[in-house]
Amino acid sequence: MGYRYKTFLKGRNVYMCGRCGTHLTTKESLVSKNYQGKYGRAHLYKKVVNVSEGVHEERSMTTGVHVVCDVNCAVCFEYIGWKYISAFEKDQKFKEGKYILERNLIKNIR
Ligand SMILES: [Zn+2]
Repeated sequence: MGYRYKTFLKGRNVYMCGRCGTHLTTKESLVSKNYQGKYGRAHLYKKVVNVSEGVHEERSMTTGVHVVCDVNCAVCFEYIGWKYISAFEKDQKFKEGKYILERNLIKNIR
């Protein structure tokens, strides 16, 4: 926790922290755009860098109970989404280890 090491991503479709511009993920990591976050639309990504993870907690969602942790930008500590640690429902297992990023809290470089 609290590290300041920054990874820079390559490619045309990099998503960054909406507050400080730290690179988070790329379009190649995008799994689905069809998610709902706390602040509106959210995307599901396979891999995200430069984030710090909060405490694991059980959360009841429309798709069942999941163990998740909030994810914050590792540089400015702004909340940007959450990570699925584990899912109880069999058909939700594919989400494990993946990240939800709130679309309104990240920005895209084109
Ligand atoms: Zn940031």
